[in-house]
Amino acid sequence: MLGTYYHDRAQVRVGNLPEPRLLKDTDAIVRVTLAGICGADLDFIKHGPEMGIQQGMRLGHEFVGIVEEIGKDIHNIRVGDRVVASAMFVDGECHYCKRELTSACEHGGLFGSPFFIEHGGNDIQGGQSEYIRVPYANTSLFTLPEGLSTGAEDAKALPLADNFATGYHGAINSNIRPGETVVVIGDGAVGQCSVMATSLFAPSQIVLVGRYDDRLKFGRQKSGATHTVNGKTTDPVEYVKELTQGRGATSIIDTIGNQVSLKQSLDMAQAGASISVLGFGHLYAPVDAPYSEALFRNLTIHTGIVNVVAYMKKLLPLVESGRIDPSVIFTNTLPLAEAEKGYELMLSRSNGIIKVALHN
Ligand SMILES: [Zn+2]
Repeated sequence: MLGTYYHDRAQVRVGNLPEPRLLKDTDAIVRVTLAGICGADLDFIKHGPEMGIQQGMRLGHEFVGIVEEIGKDIHNIRVGDRVVASAMFVDGECHYCKRELTSACEHGGLFGSPFFIEHGGNDIQGGQSEYIRVPYANTSLFTLPEGLSTGAEDAKALPLADNFATGYHGAINSNIRPGETVVVIGDGAVGQCSVMATSLFAPSQIVLVGRYDDRLKFGRQKSGATHTVNGKTTDPVEYVKELTQGRGATSIIDTIGNQVSLKQSLDMAQAGASISVLGFGHLYAPVDAPYSEALFRNLTIHTGIVNVVAYMKKLLPLVESGRIDPSVIFTNTLPLAEAEKGYELMLSRSNGIIKVALHN
Protein backbone atom coordinates (compact mmCIF):
# COMPACT_ATOMS: atom_id res chain seq x y z
CA MET A 1 0.00 0.00 0.00
CA LEU A 2 1.00 3.64 -0.38
CA GLY A 3 2.04 5.54 2.71
CA THR A 4 4.07 8.56 3.79
CA TYR A 5 7.09 8.36 6.03
CA TYR A 6 9.91 10.49 7.40
CA HIS A 7 13.06 10.24 5.31
CA ASP A 8 15.41 12.94 6.54
CA ARG A 9 15.25 16.50 7.84
CA ALA A 10 12.53 18.31 5.89
CA GLN A 11 12.11 15.29 3.65
CA VAL A 12 8.98 13.20 3.40
CA ARG A 13 8.57 10.23 1.11
CA VAL A 14 5.57 8.41 -0.26
CA GLY A 15 6.32 4.77 -0.90
CA ASN A 16 5.09 1.23 -0.98
CA LEU A 17 4.71 -0.09 2.55
CA PRO A 18 3.45 -3.39 3.93
CA GLU A 19 -0.26 -3.45 4.69
CA PRO A 20 -1.08 -3.45 8.39
CA ARG A 21 -2.84 -6.39 10.00
CA LEU A 22 -4.66 -6.96 13.26
CA LEU A 23 -2.22 -7.66 16.08
CA LYS A 24 -4.58 -7.57 19.05
CA ASP A 25 -8.25 -8.29 19.62
CA THR A 26 -8.81 -4.60 20.37
CA ASP A 27 -7.38 -3.46 17.00
CA ALA A 28 -9.18 -2.42 13.84
CA ILE A 29 -7.92 -1.85 10.33
CA VAL A 30 -9.22 1.27 8.62
CA ARG A 31 -9.06 2.04 4.92
CA VAL A 32 -8.21 5.72 4.95
CA THR A 33 -10.25 7.95 2.64
CA LEU A 34 -8.96 11.36 3.74
CA ALA A 35 -5.99 12.35 5.89
CA GLY A 36 -4.65 15.70 7.04
CA ILE A 37 -1.17 17.13 7.18
CA CYS A 38 -0.77 18.80 10.57
CA GLY A 39 1.58 21.50 11.79
CA ALA A 40 2.93 18.85 14.16
CA ASP A 41 3.92 16.73 11.13
CA LEU A 42 5.89 19.71 9.87
CA ASP A 43 7.58 19.96 13.26
CA PHE A 44 8.50 16.28 13.14
CA ILE A 45 10.19 16.60 9.80
CA LYS A 46 11.83 19.95 10.52
CA HIS A 47 13.22 18.79 13.87
CA GLY A 48 13.50 15.08 13.13
CA PRO A 49 17.14 14.57 14.14
CA GLU A 50 16.74 16.50 17.42
CA MET A 51 13.58 14.57 18.23
CA GLY A 52 15.28 11.26 17.55
CA ILE A 53 12.93 10.43 14.71
CA GLN A 54 14.01 7.35 12.80
CA GLN A 55 14.11 7.16 9.06
CA GLY A 56 10.95 5.40 7.93
CA MET A 57 8.67 6.66 10.70
CA ARG A 58 5.11 6.74 9.38
CA LEU A 59 3.35 10.08 9.35
CA GLY A 60 -0.19 11.27 9.89
CA HIS A 61 -2.47 11.40 12.90
CA GLU A 62 -5.60 12.89 11.34
CA PHE A 63 -7.69 10.51 9.26
CA VAL A 64 -11.18 9.51 8.26
CA GLY A 65 -11.93 6.20 6.63
CA ILE A 66 -13.93 3.00 6.43
CA VAL A 67 -13.54 0.13 8.85
CA GLU A 68 -12.10 -2.80 6.95
CA GLU A 69 -11.54 -5.39 9.69
CA ILE A 70 -12.04 -5.58 13.45
CA GLY A 71 -10.60 -7.64 16.28
CA LYS A 72 -12.68 -10.02 18.42
CA ASP A 73 -13.16 -7.51 21.23
CA ILE A 74 -14.43 -4.65 19.11
CA HIS A 75 -18.08 -3.82 19.75
CA ASN A 76 -18.39 -0.03 19.27
CA ILE A 77 -17.78 -0.02 15.52
CA ARG A 78 -18.61 -2.40 12.68
CA VAL A 79 -16.93 -3.34 9.44
CA GLY A 80 -18.09 -0.88 6.80
CA ASP A 81 -18.61 2.02 9.22
CA ARG A 82 -17.25 5.36 8.14
CA VAL A 83 -15.20 6.62 11.05
CA VAL A 84 -13.08 9.48 12.26
CA ALA A 85 -10.16 8.64 14.52
CA SER A 86 -8.88 10.50 17.52
CA ALA A 87 -5.35 11.69 16.70
CA MET A 88 -4.32 9.84 19.83
CA PHE A 89 -5.36 6.24 20.37
CA VAL A 90 -6.42 5.69 23.96
CA ASP A 91 -7.48 2.64 25.94
CA GLY A 92 -10.53 4.33 27.46
CA GLU A 93 -10.18 2.56 30.78
CA CYS A 94 -7.06 3.71 32.59
CA HIS A 95 -6.90 6.13 35.53
CA TYR A 96 -6.65 9.18 33.26
CA CYS A 97 -9.14 8.08 30.60
CA LYS A 98 -11.74 7.62 33.35
CA ARG A 99 -11.12 11.27 34.28
CA GLU A 100 -11.52 12.33 30.64
CA LEU A 101 -7.85 13.32 30.56
CA THR A 102 -7.42 11.06 27.57
CA SER A 103 -4.29 12.84 26.34
CA ALA A 104 -2.53 11.32 29.36
CA CYS A 105 -3.78 7.78 28.66
CA GLU A 106 -1.40 5.34 30.27
CA HIS A 107 -1.39 3.11 27.19
CA GLY A 108 -2.05 5.62 24.44
CA GLY A 109 0.00 7.34 21.78
CA LEU A 110 -0.15 9.72 18.87
CA PHE A 111 -0.52 8.04 15.46
CA GLY A 112 2.36 8.67 13.08
CA SER A 113 4.71 10.18 15.65
CA PRO A 114 7.73 9.39 17.79
CA PHE A 115 5.43 9.33 20.79
CA PHE A 116 4.69 5.65 20.94
CA ILE A 117 4.61 3.72 24.12
CA GLU A 118 3.89 0.26 22.79
CA HIS A 119 1.67 -1.31 20.16
CA GLY A 120 4.06 -2.28 17.45
CA GLY A 121 6.07 0.87 17.14
CA ASN A 122 6.30 3.18 14.24
CA ASP A 123 6.16 0.71 11.39
CA ILE A 124 2.42 0.28 11.62
CA GLN A 125 0.45 3.40 12.37
CA GLY A 126 0.36 6.46 10.21
CA GLY A 127 -2.80 8.07 8.87
CA GLN A 128 -1.31 9.36 5.63
CA SER A 129 -1.52 5.93 4.07
CA GLU A 130 -4.05 3.68 2.39
CA TYR A 131 -4.61 1.53 5.48
CA ILE A 132 -3.87 1.93 9.15
CA ARG A 133 -4.01 -0.30 12.20
CA VAL A 134 -5.86 1.38 15.06
CA PRO A 135 -5.13 0.15 18.59
CA TYR A 136 -8.01 0.33 21.10
CA ALA A 137 -10.47 0.86 18.27
CA ASN A 138 -13.46 0.81 20.63
CA THR A 139 -12.38 4.12 22.11
CA SER A 140 -10.15 5.60 19.41
CA LEU A 141 -12.61 5.47 16.49
CA PHE A 142 -15.97 7.19 16.17
CA THR A 143 -18.63 6.16 13.70
CA LEU A 144 -19.73 9.23 11.78
CA PRO A 145 -23.41 10.16 12.20
CA GLU A 146 -25.75 9.74 9.24
CA GLY A 147 -25.36 13.30 7.99
CA LEU A 148 -21.60 12.90 7.73
CA SER A 149 -21.42 9.35 6.44
CA THR A 150 -21.64 9.55 2.64
CA GLY A 151 -17.96 10.27 2.07
CA ALA A 152 -18.71 13.75 0.75
CA GLU A 153 -18.47 15.08 4.32
CA ASP A 154 -15.08 13.57 5.17
CA ALA A 155 -13.41 16.98 5.17
CA LYS A 156 -15.91 18.26 7.73
CA ALA A 157 -15.24 15.43 10.15
CA LEU A 158 -11.47 15.22 9.65
CA PRO A 159 -10.48 18.34 11.67
CA LEU A 160 -12.21 16.84 14.71
CA ALA A 161 -9.37 14.31 14.87
CA ASP A 162 -7.02 17.03 16.03
CA ASN A 163 -7.00 20.65 14.83
CA PHE A 164 -10.60 21.61 15.52
CA ALA A 165 -10.70 19.66 18.77
CA THR A 166 -7.50 21.46 19.76
CA GLY A 167 -9.09 24.83 19.03
CA TYR A 168 -12.09 23.79 21.11
CA HIS A 169 -9.75 22.74 23.93
CA GLY A 170 -8.20 26.21 23.77
CA ALA A 171 -11.62 27.85 23.83
CA ILE A 172 -12.72 25.87 26.88
CA ASN A 173 -9.49 26.48 28.76
CA SER A 174 -9.46 30.20 28.07
CA ASN A 175 -12.69 30.48 30.04
CA ILE A 176 -14.58 32.62 27.53
CA ARG A 177 -17.41 34.66 28.92
CA PRO A 178 -20.23 35.79 26.60
CA GLY A 179 -19.87 39.37 25.44
CA GLU A 180 -16.16 39.66 26.17
CA THR A 181 -13.02 39.80 24.03
CA VAL A 182 -11.02 36.77 22.95
CA VAL A 183 -7.65 36.93 21.25
CA VAL A 184 -6.24 34.04 19.22
CA ILE A 185 -2.51 34.24 18.53
CA GLY A 186 -1.38 32.37 15.42
CA ASP A 187 -3.02 32.31 11.99
CA GLY A 188 -2.35 28.67 11.04
CA ALA A 189 -4.88 25.85 11.02
CA VAL A 190 -5.11 25.57 14.81
CA GLY A 191 -5.45 29.35 15.11
CA GLN A 192 -8.27 29.36 12.55
CA CYS A 193 -9.96 26.44 14.32
CA SER A 194 -9.58 28.25 17.64
CA VAL A 195 -11.38 31.24 16.16
CA MET A 196 -14.19 28.98 14.92
CA ALA A 197 -14.46 27.17 18.24
CA THR A 198 -14.39 30.44 20.15
CA SER A 199 -17.50 31.61 18.34
CA LEU A 200 -19.45 28.79 20.06
CA PHE A 201 -19.01 30.68 23.35
CA ALA A 202 -20.51 33.99 22.16
CA PRO A 203 -17.73 36.50 22.78
CA SER A 204 -18.36 40.02 21.47
CA GLN A 205 -14.98 40.32 19.72
CA ILE A 206 -12.62 37.68 18.34
CA VAL A 207 -9.21 39.11 17.47
CA LEU A 208 -6.89 36.98 15.35
CA VAL A 209 -3.19 37.88 15.60
CA GLY A 210 -0.95 36.58 12.83
CA ARG A 211 1.89 37.30 10.47
CA TYR A 212 0.40 36.59 7.04
CA ASP A 213 -2.14 38.92 5.45
CA ASP A 214 -3.73 36.15 3.37
CA ARG A 215 -4.30 34.00 6.44
CA LEU A 216 -5.69 36.95 8.39
CA LYS A 217 -8.12 37.64 5.56
CA PHE A 218 -9.08 33.97 5.68
CA GLY A 219 -9.68 34.38 9.40
CA ARG A 220 -12.14 37.23 8.78
CA GLN A 221 -13.88 35.63 5.82
CA LYS A 222 -13.99 31.95 6.76
CA SER A 223 -13.27 31.44 10.43
CA GLY A 224 -15.27 34.24 12.03
CA ALA A 225 -12.65 36.64 13.38
CA THR A 226 -14.16 40.08 13.97
CA HIS A 227 -10.73 41.75 13.99
CA THR A 228 -7.31 40.79 12.69
CA VAL A 229 -3.89 42.25 13.28
CA ASN A 230 -0.61 41.54 11.53
CA GLY A 231 2.08 41.43 14.21
CA LYS A 232 4.76 42.27 11.64
CA THR A 233 3.33 45.73 11.07
CA THR A 234 1.20 46.51 14.13
CA ASP A 235 1.79 45.90 17.83
CA PRO A 236 -0.90 43.35 18.77
CA VAL A 237 -0.79 44.39 22.44
CA GLU A 238 -1.56 48.01 21.69
CA TYR A 239 -4.21 46.96 19.19
CA VAL A 240 -6.00 44.76 21.73
CA LYS A 241 -5.74 47.37 24.48
CA GLU A 242 -7.35 49.93 22.21
CA LEU A 243 -10.24 47.58 21.52
CA THR A 244 -10.83 46.95 25.22
CA GLN A 245 -10.80 50.37 26.90
CA GLY A 246 -7.16 49.90 27.76
CA ARG A 247 -7.72 46.84 29.95
CA GLY A 248 -6.93 43.99 27.61
CA ALA A 249 -8.62 40.73 26.69
CA THR A 250 -10.27 38.33 29.13
CA SER A 251 -9.41 35.19 27.15
CA ILE A 252 -6.33 34.49 25.07
CA ILE A 253 -5.52 31.38 23.08
CA ASP A 254 -1.83 31.10 22.19
CA THR A 255 -1.33 28.62 19.35
CA ILE A 256 2.37 29.51 19.00
CA GLY A 257 3.72 28.91 22.50
CA ASN A 258 7.06 30.69 22.25
CA GLN A 259 8.60 33.53 24.27
CA VAL A 260 7.20 36.24 22.00
CA SER A 261 3.64 34.92 22.01
CA LEU A 262 3.72 34.30 25.75
CA LYS A 263 4.85 37.87 26.42
CA GLN A 264 2.19 39.21 24.08
CA SER A 265 -0.43 37.09 25.85
CA LEU A 266 0.60 38.39 29.27
CA ASP A 267 0.80 42.00 28.11
CA MET A 268 -2.62 41.96 26.46
CA ALA A 269 -4.38 40.12 29.30
CA GLN A 270 -6.55 42.08 31.70
CA ALA A 271 -6.50 41.12 35.38
CA GLY A 272 -8.25 37.83 35.96
CA ALA A 273 -7.82 36.72 32.34
CA SER A 274 -7.19 33.17 31.23
CA ILE A 275 -4.46 32.27 28.76
CA SER A 276 -4.68 28.90 27.06
CA VAL A 277 -1.39 27.74 25.56
CA LEU A 278 -1.77 25.26 22.70
CA GLY A 279 1.47 25.88 20.79
CA PHE A 280 4.72 23.94 20.86
CA GLY A 281 7.23 26.76 20.36
CA HIS A 282 8.67 26.17 23.82
CA LEU A 283 9.87 22.74 22.69
CA TYR A 284 12.49 24.35 20.49
CA ALA A 285 13.46 27.40 22.57
CA PRO A 286 12.71 27.52 26.29
CA VAL A 287 10.44 30.27 27.65
CA ASP A 288 10.60 32.00 31.04
CA ALA A 289 7.97 31.02 33.59
CA PRO A 290 6.15 34.30 34.27
CA TYR A 291 4.93 33.53 37.79
CA SER A 292 5.17 37.06 39.17
CA GLU A 293 3.25 38.66 36.40
CA ALA A 294 0.58 35.99 36.51
CA LEU A 295 0.31 36.09 40.28
CA PHE A 296 -0.04 39.84 40.75
CA ARG A 297 -2.77 40.09 38.12
CA ASN A 298 -4.54 36.85 38.91
CA LEU A 299 -3.92 35.39 35.49
CA THR A 300 -4.59 31.76 34.73
CA ILE A 301 -2.19 30.07 32.33
CA HIS A 302 -3.58 26.79 31.15
CA THR A 303 -1.44 24.45 29.08
CA GLY A 304 -2.32 21.03 27.81
CA ILE A 305 -2.84 18.62 24.99
CA VAL A 306 -6.30 18.21 23.57
CA ASN A 307 -8.48 15.41 24.93
CA VAL A 308 -9.97 14.50 21.58
CA VAL A 309 -11.88 11.46 22.78
CA ALA A 310 -13.53 13.46 25.56
CA TYR A 311 -14.77 16.10 23.08
CA MET A 312 -15.71 14.05 20.04
CA LYS A 313 -19.27 13.20 21.03
CA LYS A 314 -19.99 16.87 21.67
CA LEU A 315 -18.38 18.11 18.46
CA LEU A 316 -19.75 15.60 15.91
CA PRO A 317 -23.38 16.83 16.30
CA LEU A 318 -22.23 20.46 15.94
CA VAL A 319 -20.64 19.58 12.61
CA GLU A 320 -23.55 17.40 11.49
CA SER A 321 -26.05 20.19 12.22
CA GLY A 322 -23.95 22.72 10.30
CA ARG A 323 -23.30 24.88 13.36
CA ILE A 324 -19.62 24.61 12.51
CA ASP A 325 -17.90 23.63 9.29
CA PRO A 326 -14.22 23.07 10.00
CA SER A 327 -13.63 21.77 6.46
CA VAL A 328 -12.85 25.34 5.42
CA ILE A 329 -9.31 24.96 6.76
CA PHE A 330 -8.47 22.56 3.92
CA THR A 331 -7.35 25.02 1.30
CA ASN A 332 -5.73 22.27 -0.79
CA THR A 333 -6.57 18.61 -1.40
CA LEU A 334 -4.19 16.27 -3.21
CA PRO A 335 -4.03 12.54 -3.87
CA LEU A 336 -1.97 10.62 -1.32
CA ALA A 337 0.60 9.88 -4.01
CA GLU A 338 1.36 13.62 -4.07
CA ALA A 339 1.93 13.92 -0.32
CA GLU A 340 5.46 15.25 -0.82
CA LYS A 341 3.99 18.18 -2.71
CA GLY A 342 1.45 18.63 0.07
CA TYR A 343 4.23 18.97 2.63
CA GLU A 344 6.09 21.41 0.40
CA LEU A 345 2.95 23.52 0.05
CA MET A 346 2.44 23.66 3.79
CA LEU A 347 6.07 24.40 4.50
CA SER A 348 6.02 27.23 1.96
CA ARG A 349 3.23 29.07 3.83
CA SER A 350 2.46 30.77 0.55
CA ASN A 351 -0.53 31.38 -1.68
CA GLY A 352 -3.11 31.39 1.08
CA ILE A 353 -2.40 27.81 2.09
CA ILE A 354 -3.75 26.91 5.51
CA LYS A 355 -3.88 23.13 5.46
CA VAL A 356 -3.57 20.26 3.01
CA ALA A 357 -5.71 17.10 2.91
CA LEU A 358 -4.67 13.90 1.14
CA HIS A 359 -7.31 11.67 -0.41
CA ASN A 360 -7.32 8.03 -1.44
ZN1 LIG B 1 -6.25 5.43 29.06
